[in-house]
Amino acid sequence: MTERVNRLGEFELIAKHFAPLAGKTPGAYGLKDDAAVLTPAAGHDLVLTTDAVVAGVHFFPSDPPATIAQKALRVNISDLAAKGATPRVYLLTLALPPGVDDAWFTAFASGLRRDQVRFGVTLVGGDTVATPGPLTISVTALGEVARGKMLLRGGAKAGDDIWVSGTIGDAALGLRVAKAEDVGLDKKHGASVLHRFRIPEPRWVLGRALVGVAHACLDVSDGLIADLGHMSEVSGVKIEVEAQTVPLSPAARSALTAGRIGLSDLLTGGDDYELAFSAPAARRHQLSALALTTKTKLSRVGRVFKGKGVVALDRQGAEIGFTRKGFAHF
Ligand code: ADP
Ligand code: MG
Repeated sequence: MTERVNRLGEFELIAKHFAPLAGKTPGAYGLKDDAAVLTPAAGHDLVLTTDAVVAGVHFFPSDPPATIAQKALRVNISDLAAKGATPRVYLLTLALPPGVDDAWFTAFASGLRRDQVRFGVTLVGGDTVATPGPLTISVTALGEVARGKMLLRGGAKAGDDIWVSGTIGDAALGLRVAKAEDVGLDKKHGASVLHRFRIPEPRWVLGRALVGVAHACLDVSDGLIADLGHMSEVSGVKIEVEAQTVPLSPAARSALTAGRIGLSDLLTGGDDYELAFSAPAARRHQLSALALTTKTKLSRVGRVFKGKGVVALDRQGAEIGFTRKGFAHF
């Protein structure tokens, strides 16, 4: 990297804001070497994932820098969660437009620091470049799972139940609030859905507990229906969702009642970062207990059949049509 990216030079920037996030992590070499080393625990596989967030696409350039950092990290922790992996370390690539100042980095790094503690990860490397385009943040996260036990999208079997964690559709509402649309929510509910859009809650404690219990698992990032479509395709099964059983927050219910958003918008809106998984019916009791021990709301929302595709049924058992099943970039 030859171009100066900021008032602080590239190396001062790394030393001031990012090296402290590496701390004394073994193998990170204080972010002063070309690469980092990671030794997985005995009997474990490394699980690797990467996700980028782009200003104007995944967040607003004016969002608080700390929450931008948290979202960039958390969408990756969510992918690890969906695979049953325990997060360990991450790498961070920043493509910076002109004008990002030192105060922005300070706030950005503080968001990362907070979440490092929360998710038990440390920064072990990255890259910092200048760009004429929008601010872009790419995180690569590495986690661990017992050897051969990573949860897959492809394991759903006819007869399984479909489960979902937390509530669905809040971030889709939060996006509308962020765009200053009137979704008919009072202040408190408006703030709660905006918070869910900005700072997702990765379900990694749950994900870890689902190893050996769930047949298939993924995180809901594109929209519940679209993501269950991915599960059905990779697993080679049909998935039926009973729409009225999909868990909604009080805020989402209130927007629905006010007629400001349709159920299908909530079922196909992206950015939930909840886990959707299939498990045999024999696991129902175990999963109810697991909801308590992991302090995570779990809801049974559908079933797996022979066949293909995903359908959502209304209260009368009629199929709900969707104009789009979820978010797609292209
Ligand atoms: P090189 O040009 O040799 O690839 P860099 O100058 O890109 O090295 O990076 C120097 C060191 O700083 C490396 O250890 C790299 O991992 C780390 N680094 C650079 N940018 C970041 C960043 N945004 N976050 C964390 N570490 C970074
Ligand atoms: Mg190098």
